Amino acid sequence: MSYSLWNDQIVKDEEVVVNKEDRGYQFGDGVYEVVKVYNGELFTAEEHVDRFYVSAEKIRMTIPYTKDKLHQLLHQLVEKNKVETGHVYFQITRGAGARNHVFPGDEVKPVLTGNTKENPRPVANFENGVKATFVEDVRWLRCDIKSLNLLGAVLAKQEAQEKGCYEAILHRGETVTEGSSSNIYGIKDGVLYTHPADNFILNGITRQVIIKCAAEIGLPVKEEAMTKAQLLAMDEVIVSSTTSEVTPIVEVDGTVFGGGKPGDWTRKLQVQFDTKIPKGIRA
Ligand code: PMP
Repeated sequence: MSYSLWNDQIVKDEEVVVNKEDRGYQFGDGVYEVVKVYNGELFTAEEHVDRFYVSAEKIRMTIPYTKDKLHQLLHQLVEKNKVETGHVYFQITRGAGARNHVFPGDEVKPVLTGNTKENPRPVANFENGVKATFVEDVRWLRCDIKSLNLLGAVLAKQEAQEKGCYEAILHRGETVTEGSSSNIYGIKDGVLYTHPADNFILNGITRQVIIKCAAEIGLPVKEEAMTKAQLLAMDEVIVSSTTSEVTPIVEVDGTVFGGGKPGDWTRKLQVQFDTKIPKGIRA
């Protein structure tokens, strides 16, 4: 049996009822988060929950629970589902009301839902690297919000998959922004480059951990956007996210990096990242 989060309760999956007039369903009017669980323990939950509240605020939605309450619910859910290594997904929508673009009145309450998934770390990708492909970034201009509106990302990821690639590297004109569901980095002559955390990217929690790891291993970081040509000329390329962690990219549209093998800096970042992962309560 598996359990879900539904507003301020943990219930059996089948007990969750979603209204067809929910604004998440009709408009993608809501925000979400994904938190990694290692051996039963949530990783960087504080940062994810903080970003959840910031995303909600940016779309002018008030989450009707305290952060403490939400942390408590997420821990209960992970505990109840006995998650070993995987993730917890949660989202909040502006609630259900007769379809109208304009915000509903105060009588309509936001709807919080969540669930967990057992999902092993993609260790083969860490070892061998993955392929990526360039896709034009046609998303909106508020990519800093972790919005439920993911059509731009969905179309880009589908295109990547159809080309046999793990990820789509998005670009606005010549400027590389981020991945369809990840952040992108290049390493050249011992410097790590990644797009600055502005409205064109989601400031990944993993990105923030990687920037810390880079400082710890003596790898200077420049939060500067790369052009497509600059990215193709990098010594090493990396994709990161909550589930991808530090994944090397060894090929982009036929350009091979490091002879098709993860580079030394990438390896060092992976090792440093591993030191941060919780040992967990079920190790
Ligand atoms: N950018 C986008 C567009 C994403 O969807 C994600 C993952 N949700 C990320 C970056 C990486 O964020 P995080 O490291 O917090 O998972």
